[in-house]
Amino acid sequence: MSSESESFGFQAEISQLLDLIINTFYSNKEIFLREIISNASDALDKIRYQSLTDPSALEAEKDLYIRLIPDKENKTLSIRDTGIGMTKADMVNNLGTIAKSGTKGFMEALSSGADISMIGQFGVGFYSAYLVAERVQVISKHNDDEQYIWESAAGGTFTITLDKVNPSLNRGTEIRLYLKEDQLEYLEEKRLKEVVKKHSEFISYPIQLIVTKEVEKVCSIDDEEEEKEDSKIEEVEDEEEKKKKTKKVKEVQQQTEELNKTKPIWTRNPSDITSEEYGAFYKSLTNDWEDHLAVKHFSVEGQLEFKAILYVPKRAPFDLFEQKKKRNNIKLYVRRVFIMDDCEELIPEYLNFIKGIVDSEDLPLNISRETLQQNKILKVIRKHVVKKCMDLFTEIAEDKDNFNKFWEAFGKNIKLGIHEDAQNRSKLAEFLRFHSTKSGDELTSLKDYITRMPEGQKNIYYLTGESLAAVRDSPFLEVLKRKGFEVLLLVDPIDEYAVTQLKEFEGKTLASVSKEGLELEETEDEKKAREEEAKSFEDLCKVIKDALGEKVEKVTISNRIADSPCVLVTGQFGWSSNMERIMKAQALRDTSMSSYMASKKTLELNPKHAIVKELRRKVSEDKADKSVRDLTYLLYETALLTSGFSLEEPTSFAKRIYRMISLGLDVDEDEDVEPIVQDDAAPPPVEGESSSAMEEID
Ligand code: ADP
Ligand code: MG
Repeated sequence: MSSESESFGFQAEISQLLDLIINTFYSNKEIFLREIISNASDALDKIRYQSLTDPSALEAEKDLYIRLIPDKENKTLSIRDTGIGMTKADMVNNLGTIAKSGTKGFMEALSSGADISMIGQFGVGFYSAYLVAERVQVISKHNDDEQYIWESAAGGTFTITLDKVNPSLNRGTEIRLYLKEDQLEYLEEKRLKEVVKKHSEFISYPIQLIVTKEVEKVCSIDDEEEEKEDSKIEEVEDEEEKKKKTKKVKEVQQQTEELNKTKPIWTRNPSDITSEEYGAFYKSLTNDWEDHLAVKHFSVEGQLEFKAILYVPKRAPFDLFEQKKKRNNIKLYVRRVFIMDDCEELIPEYLNFIKGIVDSEDLPLNISRETLQQNKILKVIRKHVVKKCMDLFTEIAEDKDNFNKFWEAFGKNIKLGIHEDAQNRSKLAEFLRFHSTKSGDELTSLKDYITRMPEGQKNIYYLTGESLAAVRDSPFLEVLKRKGFEVLLLVDPIDEYAVTQLKEFEGKTLASVSKEGLELEETEDEKKAREEEAKSFEDLCKVIKDALGEKVEKVTISNRIADSPCVLVTGQFGWSSNMERIMKAQALRDTSMSSYMASKKTLELNPKHAIVKELRRKVSEDKADKSVRDLTYLLYETALLTSGFSLEEPTSFAKRIYRMISLGLDVDEDEDVEPIVQDDAAPPPVEGESSSAMEEID
């Protein structure tokens, strides 16, 4: 190593990753070539894009290509590209010192059974070179710097050296792999062709392979001596030729062969393209190791022309919702020239899982990121793209199993779309799937829900909460269940945002069963009975409201509970208990909102419940009865829990409960502990009623 080499340590996780790559038994090593070629292609994309606004960027080297150079003598395979290249600083940063989120992600995925071929998706594909090489050199020349050599045999360190000996690159990068003894197959023409065909067919730059060919050459006998040195000589038996004193000579020559001559797949007729070809193109586009779930290949003609292929993957990437991550979703081409690979203007954020390409006939080639936003053509393209995505989802929905996969992976995106995309909201709502009180283990669509609605039911009912277990037996469902009304159970934090935006579906209002103003369809008789009950419980409601003070907004008679004594509902436009929980969990939220959005609670009483009736009796006998106040608190706090709120003062609630337990167990209480109920005028237990703990307090 030259004295001018500078040594660097790999960032710890990268070092670990290298160890793993080198030491893991793994047979499908060929994918290293796909990764190296894909990096070369990225580098070529970058220089081409730069040249659109600065033609001088190509001056040093005008040809754009990728070249594979096997060298049997030295047992090296070199992959050279004329892309953007790397400066010395780029090498330090990109090849080993800066941690990438994918490094750890990939190692975790590996340890839970993922395959090494997934490496590209995690953004650390370069290191797959060590699957086949014991030593790797990266020789690179960037327009803004000299030619440098990066070199490492793993083991925790790499070096960078100014290349004084042979600065042969005009611009670009050469990855030189010193192959392991058992990986020499990657020097064979046949094997290289096979691997390129399999994994890199759709690279849009020529991939050249340097091949050695024996060619026949005719030369005069006089040349014999010179030729003898490096080629076999064959005596030609032909008499005539002998006379001419010539010989046919076989000579070893180096030639360049282009391996990927197919024209861009999106320019071809969809009916000529096989599903394998779509699959291969998808993989080349995304680094995915699995086939796509669905694909749409279409062209738009008329005032504006473009072609596109859109794919839905089978799974969500590991970092789908990671903030600030540069997305690699839709590649933008203009008249077959690659422009950029993360054009945000082509597709709304909630569709960031869609992969594919768009090739426009109308955009200017030198379009810049700044002008993209204003561009009218792009806006129209985007509209078409979103519409086609909707068609794509509709097609997926035709097959239940496929749609389940889709929903599991991208359901959150659909819900985000409902929140963000007003124009497509009702279309997106068709794809929503939820648990419900009637769906069992399956999920239901809103359409299916509607087909099950009994006559007389006008609204689509839903209840939000933390988990299925928490909402399945909620008191809010009691009356609805009895009436045979199905209730959607929404337990994903984003659900409540989505349904409040949606408001209605096919003319049916989406109504929360835990909020005020729930108008349950009821008969005239039911209505009349309820009004009468409200009257007869007026006094009790007032006493309870006085006892609870500011804790509740109102106390009323309920139409939604059947088995529980009471429940806490929230204002129609404020937060539900679920939303309050979510907002409290967001540590950095703006606290100014919470004061007026925080749930204004109404305590609803069940007039048919024995506890409520008994309370009313007590109140009618003695408005100032002290036990009423204590029992009211216990009821209120229990209702907080069953209605999905958290306790404001868990300790005082616990104390009340402990006292009840003591009473139930007949444990002697300490003198100084005040019994919760000091009951002087307790009536004797009603005959026939069992003697419960609650009555013993009395
Ligand atoms: P990714 O391609 O997902 O960024 P890789 O591990 O494959 O991750 O490559 C790491 C980085 O090294 C690339 O992002 C790029 O900056 C740099 N790089 C690798 N190969 C080349 C190349 N042939 N030309 C220029 N830069 C390259
Ligand atoms: Mg890569």
